[in-house]
Amino acid sequence: MINKYSRYQAGLNLNYLYPTIEGFCACRCGQKLSGKQKKWASRECNDKAFIEYAIFKGNSSIIREELFKRDNGFCSTCGVYNDNWQADHILPVSKGGGACNLDNFQTICPHCHKIKTKDQYFAHLKANSSHASVKASILLW
Ligand SMILES: [Zn+2]
Ligand SMILES: [Zn+2]
Repeated sequence: MINKYSRYQAGLNLNYLYPTIEGFCACRCGQKLSGKQKKWASRECNDKAFIEYAIFKGNSSIIREELFKRDNGFCSTCGVYNDNWQADHILPVSKGGGACNLDNFQTICPHCHKIKTKDQYFAHLKANSSHASVKASILLW
């Protein structure tokens, strides 16, 4: 159900990530359930789990919202605030960085993102440099 090589987990549901724990809060905070509580010990637990789940699932608007709360739009690479900041996977999805929590996201400005993408592109080319047609495409960059 979880595919680390995809940026969106279409089939993932909340119960899969947070199965009900008999007598205890499903967010794994360790609190005991009381009274009529069936799954969550508090509203906060429910909200926290839902946000974790949405990030894990790849919900980009929630990822951006949470990332902004943490980084306030400041680029993690150059440290400068940018209105057009982007949410970036630290470990790329192509390397298994999908289905992650906020720890694998960083705020990056469009300028640094361009450089990062280019670096990755060249690293990729280097790894495949025996390929003649790939070499030719370096000249076209
Ligand atoms: Zn809890
Ligand atoms: Zn930057």
